[in-house]
Amino acid sequence: MRIQCSCGAVQVEISGAAILQYVCHCDDCQSVHGKAYCCSLYPAQNVGVSSGETAVFTLKTSPRTRCKQCGTFLFAEVPGQPVRGVNGDLLPHGLFEPQFHIQCRYATAPVQDHLPHYRDLPARFGGSDEVIE
Ligand SMILES: [Zn+2]
Ligand SMILES: [Zn+2]
Repeated sequence: MRIQCSCGAVQVEISGAAILQYVCHCDDCQSVHGKAYCCSLYPAQNVGVSSGETAVFTLKTSPRTRCKQCGTFLFAEVPGQPVRGVNGDLLPHGLFEPQFHIQCRYATAPVQDHLPHYRDLPARFGGSDEVIE
């Protein structure tokens, strides 16, 4: 599968299926994107830039790769993990189906859907596993 930035200069090749899809409400994602980040997670080696020039921007914790021209954020690294979180907004329509929300303690507006809302992270990611409304 191939995705691209808004101007089309950068193409990103993704192989295989997503490990996980979720919405991250952490303060890092919200400051950078102006909203929660729709994250489609893949093994790092399955996500690669196939053409175009990119720049890496880190505000707080996660290095984020974006198009040098239009600034569209393409994917983010998860510090300490061999994974890349692709911007779910760039996936073809219908391919982003989040399983849960994380870091909801930072959410600026109530998150209302039927998915689990983790206060920080699920236990398998080293979090408290606490779920909030
Ligand atoms: Zn671009
Ligand atoms: Zn985040």
